[in-house]
Amino acid sequence: MRIDLHTHSTISDGTDSPTRLMMKAARSGLDVIALTDHDTFDGLEEAQAAGQRFGVRLLPGLEMTCHIGGRDVHLLGYGTRLDDPVLGKELQATRVSRVTRLDAICQRLSDAGMTVTVNDVHRAAGAASSLGRPHIADAMVAKGYVEDRDEAFRDWLSEGKPAYVSRRSVALEDGIDLIHDAGGVAVLAHPWGRGTQQVLTPQVIASLSAYHQLDGIEVDHQDHDPAARRMLFDLGGRLGLVRTGASDYHGAGKKDHELGCNVTRETAYRELVTRIQLRRGVLRVR
Ligand code: AMP
Ligand code: FE
Ligand code: FE
Ligand code: ZN
Repeated sequence: MRIDLHTHSTISDGTDSPTRLMMKAARSGLDVIALTDHDTFDGLEEAQAAGQRFGVRLLPGLEMTCHIGGRDVHLLGYGTRLDDPVLGKELQATRVSRVTRLDAICQRLSDAGMTVTVNDVHRAAGAASSLGRPHIADAMVAKGYVEDRDEAFRDWLSEGKPAYVSRRSVALEDGIDLIHDAGGVAVLAHPWGRGTQQVLTPQVIASLSAYHQLDGIEVDHQDHDPAARRMLFDLGGRLGLVRTGASDYHGAGKKDHELGCNVTRETAYRELVTRIQLRRGVLRVR
């Protein structure tokens, strides 16, 4: 069985619609896909319907924007009830702040001589219900200010760069609890990608596991070199965490993240499914 548990669609910052994503998953020989758009469940119903047509099983998921130690970190949730009011309210608040920070970012870009309006960004975001910096990057590309998303992030949009403006997010510990309370399982996304190993040390991961019953960590991810993968695999084994692997596919929006480039072992997937059932979460949308 080929299983990819971290992907994005046009409902957040991917470039394939949920339907196209599932079609491509079938073509890539995948049996299970988790759609994990940022802070939204809006693509899941379409993905599940398409999955049925193309013979790919959908595991309902999301990637929640969280913070710890003053840094952004990402938390994957699988199998949460989509109508959980507390989780829903939190996600809604994060999505709203994704929109309200836009004015400030556009102002900073304009101060730097790049005219990008809020409307330009909304146009670039199309059908997305969760608006992200990648859409701002797309608007910058459309206006010819940068070559691609990578350049926009490298020079302008990343933490510490001139056009970076923070937005609301939930504390990581609370994110884990929210996912559990909604019946789901919580897996740290790319814990040692892009400098987050500074805040997600082995000690911190151990305490998230001990005090918040963190379920798993993403081990095989493009942001992790072979040494990081080995250390995370060992750490996860010692702590009894489910160890996953995934592409973090964003379509054309992220290079070198092709569907199925990393996969999750069937035993790990089954463990997640069992935990979702024990928590009374959902394996199907509706
Ligand atoms: P935001 O959701 O607004 O915080 O933006 C974060 C998103 O930007 C993440 O989902 C990443 O996938 C994406 N991202 C970060 N760095 C890059 C990059 N260099 N190129 C393309 N996408 C990126
Ligand atoms: Fe993303
Ligand atoms: Fe992420
Ligand atoms: Zn992701």
